[in-house]
Amino acid sequence: MIIEVKDLVTEFKTSRGILKALDRVSLNVNKGEFVGIVGESGCGKSTLAYSIMRLIRKPGRIVSGSIIFEGKDLLKLSEEEMRKIRGKDIGMVFQDPMTSLDPLERIGDQFVEMLTEHGVDEEEAEEIAKKSLENVGLPAEMFHNYPHQLSGGQRQRVVIAMAVAMNPKLLIADEPTTALDVIVQEKIMDLLEELKKGERSILLITHDFSLAAERSDKIAVMYAGWIVEYGDAERVVSEPLHPYSAGLISSVPDLWLDREIKPLPGSPPDLVNPPEGCRFRDRCPKAMEICKKEPVTVSVGDRIVKCWLYGEGNVES
Ligand code: SF4
Ligand code: MG
Repeated sequence: MIIEVKDLVTEFKTSRGILKALDRVSLNVNKGEFVGIVGESGCGKSTLAYSIMRLIRKPGRIVSGSIIFEGKDLLKLSEEEMRKIRGKDIGMVFQDPMTSLDPLERIGDQFVEMLTEHGVDEEEAEEIAKKSLENVGLPAEMFHNYPHQLSGGQRQRVVIAMAVAMNPKLLIADEPTTALDVIVQEKIMDLLEELKKGERSILLITHDFSLAAERSDKIAVMYAGWIVEYGDAERVVSEPLHPYSAGLISSVPDLWLDREIKPLPGSPPDLVNPPEGCRFRDRCPKAMEICKKEPVTVSVGDRIVKCWLYGEGNVES
């Protein structure tokens, strides 16, 4: 196991009250696993990524739970200790490469600065930077370029190169291809898959179910601050257990060619005042009386699912 998130609660203060963005989220990722985290916008998937990195800023805060990474609870580390882990042991790629790159500084200078912050000496940093650029399919000479001289896809490659330069064991990518066109998107995804080689684990945050299905070993489906289903990617796609996963899959146009696409009706609940019981209840075609109570999370085979359809028997946590 590389990371073990347990009962994580992250909240944001809003003018309307407390918004529970993550409500007791648990997720285990094994070494070398590619895990896709999917769900509609606002379901908490980015908040999960930022919580793991401990980058939740005010008015947000992590309230409770634990994030065990290689035996250490990240939530118990000092900011100083956490800074050493960020970039070195856990790398992160954000949606828009322009937010992670300084437009006024050469790629190489930003790269070297990041590496020296982690204690690499300058000469070695330049070498690592150039090699890292080549590793993601860019010429080493791009070291001397400014971000605006690169295409969107090249910039995202630079960001990925920086995120993996220190050889982190876990790479978190939050919608890394959303700003890119389809062909470049495929290439960036190929690159991520390649980076999984060895023992590295990848957490891909995406609203794009087909992208996750195509690339991941496992899929975690999030809804309204909960993980509602987690398991083997192929099995989740071919036989979703949670009605929300099933709804999401039938609303995706390109998973199967010959079938009717059914948009998922309704919208996610307000997380400042979430409904009692199952949060998917008012959109769920299978809702029952008992769904007015919050469903327990159970294991069904090697799958984890939070839904009353799967009984109260084998409670997971
Ligand atoms: Fe539907 Fe009930 Fe399952 Fe919620 S708990 S997804 S309402 S069947
Ligand atoms: Mg997001």
